[in-house]
Amino acid sequence: MPEETIIIGGAGHAGVQTAVRLRELGWAGRILMIAPDADDPYERPPLSKHFLEPGSPDTVVPLRRPGYFESKGIERRRGRIERVVPSTRYVLLESGSRVDYSKLVLAPGSHARRLLVPGGDLAGIHQLKTREDALALKVALRGGARVVVIGAGYIGLEVAAAAAAIGCETTVLEFEKRVMNRVTSEPVSRYFQRIHQDRGTRFVFGAAVTEVRGDGRAQEVLASDGSVYPADVVVVGIGVVPLQELARDCGLRVADGIVVDHDSRTSDPDIYAAGDATRLIDAHDGTNRRLESIQSAVAQATNAANHIMGSPSGKREVPWFWTVQHGVRFQTAGLRDPGDTVVVRGSETEQFSVLYLREGRLAAIDTVGSLRDFNPGKKLIAAAIRIDPQRAADPAVKLSEAAVDLAAHEV
Ligand SMILES: Cc1cc2nc3c(=O)[nH]c(=O)nc-3n(C[C@H](O)[C@H](O)[C@H](O)COP(=O)(O)OP(=O)(O)OC[C@H]3O[C@@H](n4cnc5c(N)ncnc54)[C@H](O)[C@@H]3O)c2cc1C
Repeated sequence: MPEETIIIGGAGHAGVQTAVRLRELGWAGRILMIAPDADDPYERPPLSKHFLEPGSPDTVVPLRRPGYFESKGIERRRGRIERVVPSTRYVLLESGSRVDYSKLVLAPGSHARRLLVPGGDLAGIHQLKTREDALALKVALRGGARVVVIGAGYIGLEVAAAAAAIGCETTVLEFEKRVMNRVTSEPVSRYFQRIHQDRGTRFVFGAAVTEVRGDGRAQEVLASDGSVYPADVVVVGIGVVPLQELARDCGLRVADGIVVDHDSRTSDPDIYAAGDATRLIDAHDGTNRRLESIQSAVAQATNAANHIMGSPSGKREVPWFWTVQHGVRFQTAGLRDPGDTVVVRGSETEQFSVLYLREGRLAAIDTVGSLRDFNPGKKLIAAAIRIDPQRAADPAVKLSEAAVDLAAHEV
């Protein structure tokens, strides 16, 4: 009987964690990780942060030490999976070769959303996903350069911070009315807008980009109100699109992401999926979300490996995310809802936290400039603890002491 093979499509955070976890749990068969990348698997978050800082090395942070994969018997093949054939359980690579699997884990990630306007593909327009992208951007960011960043989400703002630190003349164009509109509340948006403005970055809100013009190379960005922004460098940070085509084409359920459950199972019993490419749907508890974060990719990969190995599912982790802009760390845990009651702890001018209460219970927390409330907040979210909003608003009161009926919980 041929050796059982688990194929992992993708060698990013989710793909690597799947392989690591499978070996931890004692999978003795073959593990084959297939990805087109030229580099060994590396961390993506530093690419929009430390990597862009002036004087920082052009090297990436590997996800595992050299020799790790060989030492664990994790095979790697360079190539792109072009097709999955679930009925007879094999994948076809772009090279034409066929590889059979017992189980398949799809972890192809996402691609940066493109700017679909006339001139949106001119030279001088940057996106940020890979080491090559980051290197090209780093070369372009020179003191005095006019940089137009499209999108005031995490990546756009991290790039804007790096550009301002280098001495670029930086303008951020954002369609919404405030920065990080999708992920946080007004107090946090206000604070971050201010620290960027204090360092010279200009914001234009309600700006819909309609065209990029230039003679073979981006030179100006046009907005729907007719304004024109001259640019030497244009950076597009308008979100990501899940790579779901492989799954869709072989008949798996997709819905703006490969649909998975809490165990990372797709609609085919032998195929799992994890990471940016997925959408988690669970009709029983009402979950329906797509997350683009390291924490989520790693948790989903762990769950896939656990399920393949028949190990109990891990406890459901509270989703969390971080960003660093102008040296200020912002961490968020849980998932806020626009209808939540917002409680600000502390002053918006220094370290503070923002709590999001739903039906009196802590549903999410943002911490700015200090991690003091982060772990207690995460635990209170996981335990769905009721919070006294008056006490919680006072930063002198420990967050755990703002909890109501805490007796049964250790926080
Ligand atoms: C610049 C940047 C900064 C970020 N900062 C943060 C941060 O601060 N905090 C945070 O939590 N998250 C951050 N993220 C998001 C985080 O990096 C992603 O959520 C995470 O990388 C998702 O992991 P993944 O394994 O799903 O996808 P990826 O890491 O993108 O890996 C996908 C892998 O699949 C491969 N692949 C694609 N198609 C195929 C195919 N057809 N066949 C085989 N292989 C394929 C790719 O080559 C790659 O190896 C950042 C992302 C970027 C780009």
